[in-house]
Amino acid sequence: AKSLGGGTWRFFAADMRPRASQTAQLQAEMRGALTRREFVMFYQPQIDLRSNKVVGGEALLRWQHPQHGLLMPASFLGLAEESGLIVPINEWALNEACRQGAVWEAEGLGELRIAVNLSPIQFRRQGVESLVKDALRTTGFRPTSLELEVTEGILLGHDEQIVTQMHVLRSLGVTLSVDDFGTGYSSLSYIRRFPLHRLKIDRSFVQDLGNDPSALAIVRTIIDLGHILHLQVLAEGVEEESQLALLRSEGCDEVQGYYFSRPIPADAFATWVRAHER
Ligand code: C2E
Ligand code: CA
Ligand code: CA
Ligand code: CA
Repeated sequence: AKSLGGGTWRFFAADMRPRASQTAQLQAEMRGALTRREFVMFYQPQIDLRSNKVVGGEALLRWQHPQHGLLMPASFLGLAEESGLIVPINEWALNEACRQGAVWEAEGLGELRIAVNLSPIQFRRQGVESLVKDALRTTGFRPTSLELEVTEGILLGHDEQIVTQMHVLRSLGVTLSVDDFGTGYSSLSYIRRFPLHRLKIDRSFVQDLGNDPSALAIVRTIIDLGHILHLQVLAEGVEEESQLALLRSEGCDEVQGYYFSRPIPADAFATWVRAHER
């Protein structure tokens, strides 16, 4: 904060600190956040539309900040990427989700699939296979219960190395899904080249389903494309009954969204799953 004279600087000191330094401070605080155990994973149920049962959950990162409260990924993932802290944070997230999945399995919660978001950095900089192998080994989580979500951006690299890495992941028993499908550069040729299990329809299409005929056409096309390629299709961002009904009639396999539950802490997720008896 800059002194403007007459004690004006005090005005800026706490509440109105300029944005740039606030960002720098958050970045500094992020460095210690892992060791202070301030990151937590929330889980959002995924429901199979044929059985109406919970088949899994997506693990979503949160930062329980001592002053600012619960921070969403949008407010700190960008900073984490800039500083490179995304690498250890992502590694922690993967391990934590596998650890939790193994605990739930031991507690008899059932064969829940846990989906973890991978960042492009994990493919480029880190050996993603050894990362995943280590997480599975140290936690004892069943590989076939782990799903990794990748974005179109990762696949569009047309990089032979990434194709190879994904085949190695597949050989471990892990499944792979394409996140936010339809929002990237729509080069469809790439999806044939990867050992994928699932397309996740981006929530922007789902949210326009009721009022925009082109959104319905896109959703229908993604479901058909997925099924022709023997892929499962999950729609995210389902908030309304009418969206659910449309997705059901279009033959979508699975859904996820606020209509069922927001992402919730691990304990609440287990309670939710038990309440919606599988
Ligand atoms: P995403 O992978 O597309 O995750 C889905 C986002 O949609 C989540 O936001 C979730 O809370 C939100 N969502 C789910 N259902 C609904 C709904 O019905 N309506 C609306 N409006 N939103 C819904 P969240 O948790 O804030 O995460 C944002 C993004 O941050 C994620 O988008 C993902 O790209 C990234 N992210 C989250 N956790 C991780 C992580 O552990 N590692 C990495 N690399 N990225 C993560
Ligand atoms: Ca995701
Ligand atoms: Ca998504
Ligand atoms: Ca997204």
